[in-house]
Amino acid sequence: MTDNRVALVTGAARGIGAAVAVRLAKEGFAVAVCDLDESACAGTVETIEKDGGTALAVGVDVADSAAASAAVARVAAELGPPVVLVNNAGITRDNLLFKMSDDDWDSVISVHLRGSFLMSRAAQEHMTKAGWGRIVNLSSVSALGNRGQVNYSAAKAGLQGFTKTLAIELGKFGVTANAIAPGFIATEMTAATAARVGVDFEDFKAAAAKEIPVRRVGVPEDIAGTVAFLVSDDASFVSGQVVYVAGGPRA
Ligand code: NAP
Repeated sequence: MTDNRVALVTGAARGIGAAVAVRLAKEGFAVAVCDLDESACAGTVETIEKDGGTALAVGVDVADSAAASAAVARVAAELGPPVVLVNNAGITRDNLLFKMSDDDWDSVISVHLRGSFLMSRAAQEHMTKAGWGRIVNLSSVSALGNRGQVNYSAAKAGLQGFTKTLAIELGKFGVTANAIAPGFIATEMTAATAARVGVDFEDFKAAAAKEIPVRRVGVPEDIAGTVAFLVSDDASFVSGQVVYVAGGPRA
């Protein structure tokens, strides 16, 4: 572990990203809480600071090249060079293939894949300089295929190949890269899916839990705990892996 413990988490205003940011602060990292809207990050920053941690709210559209570079540069200047990057920002634009618009395809591929690429390219400079770094990308069980998500599953499967290649290129600099593929996690993203199909969220979660071997849906803290392991020194020999965190086996 380097002395400089700065982590950058994208999509950290809420959901999984917020839980990851809070957990990394508990692990001793100063955390850059990044999301589209800087003011939306205030709640996460406040939670971290109340616990005695250090956090900085950063507004960034991860799919915008100049904005991604500027966000990483700002974090390096105001908190210190980031040595942990969690590419968590994400969107869904679900539809069956024959109804999916060009924009639904482009925007999902752009936020997940282009966003993770741009943020990783900007952050690796600091990690390779430090000789230590951790990149964690949020994939999904949807990478294995999911009806109505041809855009999202392509992006999440793409992130798995992206992760393995980062691991191969960056390993010699002390940088590991891994992906987490969550199953059903209760957040605004899954609540929106329930609303879209016209099912009450509690009923939606109960139905999902019945299909999951551990008989519950996931919570953001389940993913945060896995991130905490992957960025730790205990995980220094774990790289290029996809960890399914889904309450049962996948892949
Ligand atoms: P969420 O509650 O919808 O939160 C996603 C966050 O990302 C939002 O704050 C959103 O901001 C932000 N974001 C969207 N586009 C962005 C951009 N271009 N630049 C910066 N930030 C952006 O989602 P979640 O459920 O926590 O999911 C987090 C990650 O886990 C995603 O990558 C998702 O695909 C993945 N995942 C989730 C589940 C699940 O069951 N929930 C399962 C598998 C994988 P706005 O609110 O402004 O849009």
